[in-house]
Amino acid sequence: MKLSRREFVKWMAASTGTAAVAGCAGMGGSSAGRVVVIGGGYGGATAARYIRLWAPDIDVTLVERNDTFVSCPISNLVLGGNTQMGNITMGYDGLKARGVRIVRGEAVAVDASAKQVRLADGSSLAYDRVIVSPGIDFIYDTIPGLKSADARSRVPHAWKAGPETVALRKQLEAMRDGGVFVFHVPMAPYRCPPGPYERVCQVADYLKREKPKSKIIVLDSNPDIMSKKGLFLQSWNGVYKGMIDYRPNSELADVDVKGMTVKLTFDNVKGDVLNVVPPHRAGDIARTTGLITANQRWCGIDWLTCESVGVKGVHVLGDATLSASAMPKSASMANQHGKICAASVIALLKGQPVHPEPVIMNTCYSFVDGRSAMHVTSVHTYDPAQKTLVPVKGAGGLSDKASELEGTYAWGWARNIWGEALG
Ligand SMILES: Cc1cc2nc3c(=O)[nH]c(=O)nc-3n(C[C@H](O)[C@H](O)[C@H](O)COP(=O)(O)OP(=O)(O)OC[C@H]3O[C@@H](n4cnc5c(N)ncnc54)[C@H](O)[C@@H]3O)c2cc1C
Repeated sequence: MKLSRREFVKWMAASTGTAAVAGCAGMGGSSAGRVVVIGGGYGGATAARYIRLWAPDIDVTLVERNDTFVSCPISNLVLGGNTQMGNITMGYDGLKARGVRIVRGEAVAVDASAKQVRLADGSSLAYDRVIVSPGIDFIYDTIPGLKSADARSRVPHAWKAGPETVALRKQLEAMRDGGVFVFHVPMAPYRCPPGPYERVCQVADYLKREKPKSKIIVLDSNPDIMSKKGLFLQSWNGVYKGMIDYRPNSELADVDVKGMTVKLTFDNVKGDVLNVVPPHRAGDIARTTGLITANQRWCGIDWLTCESVGVKGVHVLGDATLSASAMPKSASMANQHGKICAASVIALLKGQPVHPEPVIMNTCYSFVDGRSAMHVTSVHTYDPAQKTLVPVKGAGGLSDKASELEGTYAWGWARNIWGEALG
């Protein structure tokens, strides 16, 4: 294993020093502990990679159900025909090269007292610490029309990048010029606050280019555009003027898939292509493991260690967590949680103190067409009095307008975070 000078310095800071070098598990020495990570998305892959970078004497096993990583960030550009799936799909070989053992499979339970993760194939993995980063699953209970797999295939959410992204793109390609794209946005909190409005821009960009008589109806459960409002409106009232009908406070009642109608509590809206994103909760494994502690949806954690407030020895990351104040559910944030968690798991396994005041930051880019993007950033620090992460006043910011220069930064951000998680 090769460490750059920067990586080596970081690792030395997080380890016991020369003893850790001598005892490095990756070099055939004895192990300082076994960590199992469930979920190889933004949070889990980052945590797995950083534990190996900072403490190569810890054994890390990553359990992931998919054989490739497909990025949600940038996936809206696939819908707009502005990039292809191949550009957002990556393998896990980089992590393997870092000494992370990759197990392709479904984790079905965590037995916290026996310290074992059970997989769907009946096998088990023993751990000293387990990190759960399963992302989200959807709440369909209140949408009877989307109960069946067939209904869901006809009205995709495409809010987990992958086959549904491809399916929705195909539906848009097959739509007639003059057709109506109806998009329903769930009540916050959902993953990626600006994501729905970026999607509107991407679909508008495609329709303007290829099917200019078409329209977009945005049915938003929320009372207003939830992020970068002024910036999105610059495009909606500018290049896309007349194409987008935005309707706030649009509470979903059901979906009539046969009649291609989104049913609201006060109206029915028919379309040629329907895209309904159901409300979210923490991924299934969090529920079966008893990690959900808030509103039957999210996992409460100690923000110093990412350890569950409900189940000892189990750490939770990313979208599955009960977000701290003003903290978005984003890839940026999941990546930063991954680093807090990696450092604290190393410290806990080695009997060292955890960092008392971590500082993390979020950056979220949105593309308004194939080239131009804009950003929002924020900084969050641990407040020992409130025992949680809080936004740093005056830090962070917002673009004045979307630009092609920021479009290049957005691709740079994406390549960098993919490298951080998987490289
Ligand atoms: C359209 C869209 C655009 C977005 N754009 C941005 C953006 O520009 N910037 C940004 O910062 N964020 C963006 N996001 C948000 C970002 O994708 C999420 O916040 C991020 O993926 C959260 O990381 P995570 O690790 O919590 O979950 P995920 O990245 O979803 O990873 C979870 C992983 O766990 C695996 N898994 C789950 N359960 C199991 C199990 N039981 N066994 C095995 N494997 C399991 C899944 O297969 C998955 O690989 C966007 C999201 C969407 C939908």
